[in-house]
Amino acid sequence: MEQQIEQDMTWKTILWRGLKKRCPKCGQGHVLKGYLTQRPNCSACAEDLSAIRADDGPAWLTILLTGHILAPFIHYAIMHDSFPLQYELPIILGIATVTALSLLPFCKGLFIAIIWFTRQKD
Ligand SMILES: [Zn+2]
Repeated sequence: MEQQIEQDMTWKTILWRGLKKRCPKCGQGHVLKGYLTQRPNCSACAEDLSAIRADDGPAWLTILLTGHILAPFIHYAIMHDSFPLQYELPIILGIATVTALSLLPFCKGLFIAIIWFTRQKD
């Protein structure tokens, strides 16, 4: 079993486990409890995750993705002047907020997995 886990340790596997907010080592346990709180250990294999600090990485990635997702819609709204600004602005800000809050936990799982994997190669 342990050899199987080691053979599956590719970047693709690690990134997929991170996006699913699963343990980068076993792929079974959760790395987050609640919305964004990081677990000190994997809930399945007890892998120590306490030394991993994602810090501002997940927020940076969330902002980057949210901006790129919304940019075409913002550009379209501005260029076509379809709605008055007092309606466009709250709609765009609302969509941006929902998008960012939806992406943030997945980005945090991704960063935890990336940090864990890069430390395994030391
Ligand atoms: Zn685990």
